[in-house]
Amino acid sequence: MTYTSSALSRRTLLAGLAGTSALTAAAAPLAAQTPAAKTAAEQAPAALKDAKATKLVLLGTGGGPGGPGRTRKMTSHVMLSNGAAYVLDCGLGVIDQYARAGIPFPALRSIFITHHHADHNIEYGPLLVVGWIMGMHLDVRAFGPPPLKQMTEDFIRAYKTTVDFGAEDFKVKPLVAVDVKEVSAAGPVTQDDNVKVSAVIVEHPPVKPALGYRFDFKDRSIAFSGDTAPFEAVAKMAKGADVLVHEAMHVQALETYIRDEIAKGRPIKFEDMMAHMKADHTPVEDVGRIAQEAGVKTLVLSHLVPSIDSITDDTWRSLAAKYFKGEIIVGKDLMVV
Ligand SMILES: [Zn+2]
Ligand SMILES: [Zn+2]
Repeated sequence: MTYTSSALSRRTLLAGLAGTSALTAAAAPLAAQTPAAKTAAEQAPAALKDAKATKLVLLGTGGGPGGPGRTRKMTSHVMLSNGAAYVLDCGLGVIDQYARAGIPFPALRSIFITHHHADHNIEYGPLLVVGWIMGMHLDVRAFGPPPLKQMTEDFIRAYKTTVDFGAEDFKVKPLVAVDVKEVSAAGPVTQDDNVKVSAVIVEHPPVKPALGYRFDFKDRSIAFSGDTAPFEAVAKMAKGADVLVHEAMHVQALETYIRDEIAKGRPIKFEDMMAHMKADHTPVEDVGRIAQEAGVKTLVLSHLVPSIDSITDDTWRSLAAKYFKGEIIVGKDLMVV
């Protein structure tokens, strides 16, 4: 299912109707006419409710910081295991998408950041403050490349006045610090009663370090490439995992997209832009190759570049399927895997 503009407008319409009880009845026949059109947003809370197995929710599947207002939000994910939530990356939209998935904020146990590009970290600080307002526990932990500790302290300091007003009003303990562990090398990151987490250094110049992560839950293993050029170490890290979430780039569509942007007056050079994209990101065919080499069961294509709706799921899937013979999922926001 793709988020066509008609699906989007219907969803918006339904959301608007649902807010007015007198009109809720009018929405029912519309929904009944097209049951298949249920959006991922409507399905996520139901899919997570009472889930016994570990679940991954793709909160944002668009690549790059460009275009707030896009169908696909910037990169973020949450894994839910035994009632504990683990967020990976905090692109713009993470707070809202987390809430829409129906996961309570007190469930948030840890936050992981792959690297310090805006499409992966811009809503990290806000998540801490809004999360705290919504009942996030103060022993939440954060993991990511340096200077995450400093960034966290600076952000909390910047919002001290806001936090203090909230603490006074609602008679709750203020958010004064978050336990941050900086990760700058490959290897084990952390472990708790649900999961063992390890990291790998990936290839995303000039960002150093940029990380990929692997989460080994008791029932399931989920690996994330982070942002990277095609890289052997990702296949090695993801070896035998149940799920690999890999960034994916459609080179030809990207070239067209960049030429269009230049024609619209964006001050970039085509060659420079493509050189950067090729040095930093992975063409979707190579994603298939890496997934095959890793021998994962399921490949999730996410961080899609360009993040435009005109590339069909079949197009994305067929390019990865040239090399990968397992299950391929084209990521959608709020999809539960
Ligand atoms: Zn990115
Ligand atoms: Zn990046």
